[in-house]
Order: sequence, then C-alpha cells, then structure tokens
Amino acid sequence: MTPTIGVLALQGDVREHVHALTASGAQAVPVRRESELAAVDGLVIPGGESTAISKLLEVFDLLEPVKQRLRDGLPAYGSCAGMILLASEVLDTRPDMQPLHGIDMTVRRNAFGRQVDSFETTLDFAGLEDGPVHAVFIRAPWVERAGEGVEVLARVPSGPAACRIVAVRQGNVMATSFHPEVTGDLRVHKLFVDTVVRPRAGV
Ligand code: GLN
Repeated sequence: MTPTIGVLALQGDVREHVHALTASGAQAVPVRRESELAAVDGLVIPGGESTAISKLLEVFDLLEPVKQRLRDGLPAYGSCAGMILLASEVLDTRPDMQPLHGIDMTVRRNAFGRQVDSFETTLDFAGLEDGPVHAVFIRAPWVERAGEGVEVLARVPSGPAACRIVAVRQGNVMATSFHPEVTGDLRVHKLFVDTVVRPRAGV
C-alpha cells in the first residue's frame, strides 16, 4: 500500500519534505485546508518558524482540526519547527503560540543559543540501521522534558550541548530537532513512512 502523507504547507521547508517522502515510497501532498487534512494517512510538520506556522494554523482554521486528528491517532512527524509545534509545552516562545500536544514533552525553542545556532554533527539514532545519522541543526530546539511513554531516539553526542535530547517518539508521533529532509539520507523519513503503513498498536 502506498500511504498518502500530508506536509503542512503553511510556511517552511515543505518542498524538501515532499521530495524526501516521495523518494521514501509515499504519496506526498501539501495540506493547507481541512479537506486536505482529512484525506491523509499521516502528517509531516516541516522546519520553518514555529510561531509563524502556529499563527497560520489559526488563520487557516486548521489548529483544532490538526489537534483533533492527532488525538484520533494520526501518525505525525515534525522536524525542528515541527518538533516545537508537536510539543505539549514550549519554552522561549511567544505567549500566543499554540502547541499541538502531539507528544508529552517540553521543548525549548532556539535552545542551542547564538554562538552555535547552526551546526552539523553525526549521532546514533535508535532503530536506524547502517550507522549514525548526519544531522543538520538550524536554530534548533531541544527536548527539555520527555514525558513517561516518550522514547528518546537520539541525543547530542558531544560538545556543550552533549546529551541533550534531539529525537523522540511517542506512539506514532515522531519529532527531530534536526532536518533530515536536507541531507538526502532518507532513513528518518522511511521510518516515518513505515509507521504510517504499520501504525504501532495500543499507543
Ligand atoms: N527557530 C525556529 C523556530 O522557532 C525553528 C528553526 C527551524 O525550523 N529550522 O520555529
């Protein structure tokens, strides 16, 4: 079965996710309205600017529909700004930003600070074969609190932010602080496509 996976297309690096999903065996479609959201088997929330995407979710009347589909068990994956949006609590953001509560976690926005606001590293990613993942961080968040039932998939291996959590999964919802959509390494997207095709039961 070829799953239909939506990419929330309000702002951010939508095209890169569409390419990565297509190359990973999914049918990727942009989502800008409720009828498009209703037709997808999974949803990707791209990197970009979380406060802008949050505002546009309200403007496009998508905030409640996306939250409802997540409550109903829609598989979802967010990179960077998408991770921030999928959180249950966000630190260092605007007071009017509305998190989607897809994962029980507290995320700190722009967490790595000015000095190292963009960097690349390689990290071990639980469940992925064929070696470490090359990870690109761009003004990235980290996960400051992962709730019970949240699996930690990757941490920063070394440096000033060593051990900070940068990839998580709760049930069928995944998030990464970094951007696998820009590296050409399809393993994270394939893992998500696999989750959409074979959702994990009982979560
Ligand atoms: N700093 C951005 C935000 O707050 C996220 C950056 C990104 O998605 N590359 O949303």
